[in-house]
Amino acid sequence: MTSLAELTTIRVGGTPSLLTIASTEAEIIAEVNAADEANEELLILGGGSNLVVADDFNGRVLKIASTGYENDSTVCAGAWVTVQAGHNWDDFVADCVKNGWLGVEALAGIPGTVGATPIQNVGAYGQQVSETIAQVKAWNRESKKIDTIFAANCEFGYRTSVFKRNPNRWVILSVTFQLPLGDLASPIKYNELAVYFDSELGNRVTAKELRAGVLELRAGKGMLLNPDDCDTWSVGSFFMNPRVEQAPADAPAWQEADGRYKVSAAWLIEQAGFGKGFGLSDRATLSTKHTLAITNRGKATSDDILQLASHVKRGVLEKFGIELQPEARLVGCSLTN
Ligand SMILES: Cc1cc2nc3c(=O)[nH]c(=O)nc-3n(C[C@H](O)[C@H](O)[C@H](O)COP(=O)(O)OP(=O)(O)OC[C@H]3O[C@@H](n4cnc5c(N)ncnc54)[C@H](O)[C@@H]3O)c2cc1C
Repeated sequence: MTSLAELTTIRVGGTPSLLTIASTEAEIIAEVNAADEANEELLILGGGSNLVVADDFNGRVLKIASTGYENDSTVCAGAWVTVQAGHNWDDFVADCVKNGWLGVEALAGIPGTVGATPIQNVGAYGQQVSETIAQVKAWNRESKKIDTIFAANCEFGYRTSVFKRNPNRWVILSVTFQLPLGDLASPIKYNELAVYFDSELGNRVTAKELRAGVLELRAGKGMLLNPDDCDTWSVGSFFMNPRVEQAPADAPAWQEADGRYKVSAAWLIEQAGFGKGFGLSDRATLSTKHTLAITNRGKATSDDILQLASHVKRGVLEKFGIELQPEARLVGCSLTN
């Protein structure tokens, strides 16, 4: 049977007792109900790019593999596109740019499925899916009904949502995006992009150019999946950027609406003495291109990954008194103090 190491981008994790692959909403609901009736825990799996699963995991797994999308052309304001949960996110972004549907072009290259994007409100290069999601259709495991959850009720925040806060309540079936039409991407909000385009914050390039730029920047940081490059065998950023009352002097930090500061976790990690490529063994190391990614160099166990992450977390706490929190979901395993 296929193991979670084969189904996740960080390539660790044991073998499920039962692996069901569901390609339609009806199949998804049937499998969720079967597990719930049997009172068995069920791990919902999309592209496996935000999961670290223990090597001794042997639970039941449902892989969401429903694909396709529909644009409702009777809606006047822009494109109103409903995408099946298992559809590949990056393919959808590429199609949006091709079709002149704006608002997700800066999210090119993020691995995984469309159905997982609302969960941690995926974001990159100044865009987040919360800006374009209109509604989410999800199977409610408590009421045993399909809910339509409007964006205003998704409680989106930085890498969080109502779905992340209530992990066993809903299984997302589809996501509807409302996307403006046009060729020009929204104004550049991210410094690195402004530098890349030799431009300034607030200026605009076409969505096609923006997507291409983002893909090139991501590839340079090992943030674009590449089976031949262990720097990409990760969950992307392992830790979230912490929010603090007072940012350390010199730290790249952004003030938030509540007056607190979001600090660069990559900077904290580097300043705590963990440079690119740092490892406790040669099986798991920080990416050689980016300190925020913990990577499997080929033979890592889930313990190797978690020991390194815990070590880095402790180092940052000792140096700055700031506690890093993992961005990815840890299944059957945890960080140690
Ligand atoms: C190289 C790399 C770069 C990355 N860059 C970014 C980035 O720039 N920005 C960013 O935000 N993230 C980034 N990520 C993280 C990850 O790609 C995203 O979080 C992505 O949305 C996860 O999608 P997935 O389908 O792989 O989810 P999975 O890893 O399969 O699942 C993640 C969580 O969502 C749950 N889940 C999945 N599908 C459903 C569903 N249909 N219904 C209910 N629950 C579900 C799972 O149970 C799990 O808890 C990156 C990861 C990698 C490996």
